[in-house]
Amino acid sequence: MLCILMSLFSCRAYKPKTGEASELAMGTICSIRVYDGYNRNAVNQVFSRLNEITVTMSANDEGTVLDRLNRAAGIAAIQLPDDLFYVISSAIHYAELSNSAFNPAIGPLVKLWNIGMDDERIPLLSEIDEVLPFMDYHDIQIDGIARTAFLAKKGMALDLGAIVKGYAADQASSILKSGGVKAAIIDLGGNILVMGKKPDGKAWNVGVQNPYDSRGSYIGIIAAEPDTSIVTSGIYERYFLGDDGEHYHHILDGKTGYPIQNGLVSTTIVCASSIDADALSTTLFTMGLEDGMALAESLEGVEAIFIAEPRVVYLSSGLPKVFTLTDASFTLGQ
Ligand code: ADP
Ligand code: MG
Repeated sequence: MLCILMSLFSCRAYKPKTGEASELAMGTICSIRVYDGYNRNAVNQVFSRLNEITVTMSANDEGTVLDRLNRAAGIAAIQLPDDLFYVISSAIHYAELSNSAFNPAIGPLVKLWNIGMDDERIPLLSEIDEVLPFMDYHDIQIDGIARTAFLAKKGMALDLGAIVKGYAADQASSILKSGGVKAAIIDLGGNILVMGKKPDGKAWNVGVQNPYDSRGSYIGIIAAEPDTSIVTSGIYERYFLGDDGEHYHHILDGKTGYPIQNGLVSTTIVCASSIDADALSTTLFTMGLEDGMALAESLEGVEAIFIAEPRVVYLSSGLPKVFTLTDASFTLGQ
């Protein structure tokens, strides 16, 4: 009798519908792993949306709305779709919070270095001096009623590379939710969002990227709540070695014109919204350990992990209870 009951029970046991898909999108590998409520249609819709975001917001491709805005710098205001308007407004908010260290007007400098592209190189000092006057985010004029933006000086260009993937992950999450997906991991080139409750009821375990080995190895594990984003910015994400043997990475200082050198190797943000996590991972990196940590502590629901030379890990106050350091070559700093 007990056997029969048990087999009946196991027949009826809830079996979550799982599935996954990966595609090259937004210039990186994007993958969706569904743990409960898999719906192929919703997953396909996510990839279409990612491509739509790219053709609106990429600064590298010709003909995107952002590219049109950049080409109209000093000439005309451009009408923006709501999504781009929202992302630019958020980027300006982070520029304000960080006193310009996070700078969406950094486009001319990003183009000069072109890190990660075939023609990446160390620019001449004279070239850097030429672009510095065109990177003041206060010269981005947005009109919330007309839904337009105007870059006040010819020579300006926006670059939203530090925030777009986070926005895209939030979009992916809401598309999956509308499609009945109950639990998933959204991974847009390392920009992670864990959506919904894991079917076994436990926390999501998310590895914190080892900044010295940006694909694959982890320094530790975060036990994440449902609907949490975990995003890392670091000096080994995109970089090149110059002829002078120096390491040049892609997070730039809009004041000096060079990659930021402040002793940090990476920053990881843990918070509910992925656009905030992405913007903040870059923002706190640009601000450095002391000011960045102070900003993280001042923001409700935001936790941060800083890794500084030589392999020291600093945690914001909410992290010790959810983070476990697993790589013994790193030490916890105070
Ligand atoms: P990833 O591209 O690895 O997700 P980030 O989110 O940290 O890394 O964004 C880095 C990108 O942001 C750079 O490749 C560049 O496009 C842009 N960027 C570089 N320096 C800055 C800065 N000081 N403020 C804002 N954006 C920046
Ligand atoms: Mg970022």
